[in-house]
Amino acid sequence: MAQGWSDYRSRDEIRQLQREQLQMTLNRAYFNVDFYRRRMDGLGLLPEDVATRDDLANFPFTTRQDLAEHYPYGLFAEPLKSIVRLKISSPAWLDQRRPIVIGFTRHDVAMWQALMVRLYQQLGITERDIVQVAFNFSLFPGAFTFNHAAESLGATLAPSATISATLQLQIMQDFRSTVLATTAAFALHMAETMERQSLDAASLYLRLILLGPDPLTEDTRQRLESAFKVPVYGLYGVNEMVEPGVAGECPAQQGLHLAEDQFFAEIVHPTTGEPVAPGHEGELVLTTLTTEAYPLIRYRTRDITVLREAPCACGRTSARLAPILRRTDNRISIRGIPLYPEQVEALLRGIDPFLEDFRLIVYTSHGIGEQLEIHLVRSANHDFPGGSRSQYLELTRSHIRRALGLGARVQMVDAEHLPKEGLTYKTVFRSTAPLHQS
Ligand SMILES: [Zn+2]
Repeated sequence: MAQGWSDYRSRDEIRQLQREQLQMTLNRAYFNVDFYRRRMDGLGLLPEDVATRDDLANFPFTTRQDLAEHYPYGLFAEPLKSIVRLKISSPAWLDQRRPIVIGFTRHDVAMWQALMVRLYQQLGITERDIVQVAFNFSLFPGAFTFNHAAESLGATLAPSATISATLQLQIMQDFRSTVLATTAAFALHMAETMERQSLDAASLYLRLILLGPDPLTEDTRQRLESAFKVPVYGLYGVNEMVEPGVAGECPAQQGLHLAEDQFFAEIVHPTTGEPVAPGHEGELVLTTLTTEAYPLIRYRTRDITVLREAPCACGRTSARLAPILRRTDNRISIRGIPLYPEQVEALLRGIDPFLEDFRLIVYTSHGIGEQLEIHLVRSANHDFPGGSRSQYLELTRSHIRRALGLGARVQMVDAEHLPKEGLTYKTVFRSTAPLHQS
């Protein structure tokens, strides 16, 4: 954590600090990571060529592809003995493509935790609060940071990983939880459960709800605020850096304050990579500023947002990101598990070479939140992989579960029964109920 960081510095002070930190991070990348040194040498650039923040625009971007190509440790800037934590960016990639492995030194872990503490404090969470953390910890490693930050703050922690909404509500009443941290999908499901049970929000002790890692839409916020009668806030993180922790809302709910002592942000045109005018929409590109183990220079996040530097109604001077509601790729997320439709397709075609078409349908189920359903169309002229039709479906289900860490409903349908409406095979349907065909 930058010494003496304050949320109320002048923009000039923030820029000065970032200039110094950019120098350090470029030096770390140049001297410790072959990939960056080769790139900079190839362009005749040295770390000291970045005298201003604008000079950074001369450096090439780092993409997810670059990260995958250097699996597992090729982009680490510290020896393994200094690494205290490894995180796999998406377990789903293990089966089909090379995953991305991120390392953290003690400093990096402490920095991540301090960022979460800051986000809690920004919302007025104190040691008097009881924080109920409801995530699937095995599938969303960032969930641990909610716990560690609550402990570090001195707030009482009520960890409640993967139990039902009914039990969550019971715990919330019994423990007098004042803060709920969970995914938007699960919070919506809890709201439905509360309504079904005619549970009055006034019987809870809740003060606020904190949602991550998926972006929070205004519809969801309004729905949850009216159900729970408390403010609902969103967080932002980057899977390949820290998630959550990069940015978070304040009580003003006018964008997510970016941790500018840790990340330098640029907004670029998603196709040309050129900078967009301030206040305009584009792809968020981030450079880590103090990260030791896994420094990233101009990393393309694929998230579309707007960056605002005007002071916030809360008085904080850090720049704010507009809620991220679109990406430049097809990534979707189910209960916090990132998923690429192309990767599911590769998996399905690997099982069945005679697969003709498929659809992914994401629906919200009572009891466990968002669910994945897969509709398959295959040629009738070929034998089923695995033997029979039911063995084929079972084989597919078990492959999906192993590769993605997700249970899915899998069924075969006739081509004419696939949802169409001009959508491509990559389209994911969002539905409030399973689309049963047979
Ligand atoms: Zn604010």
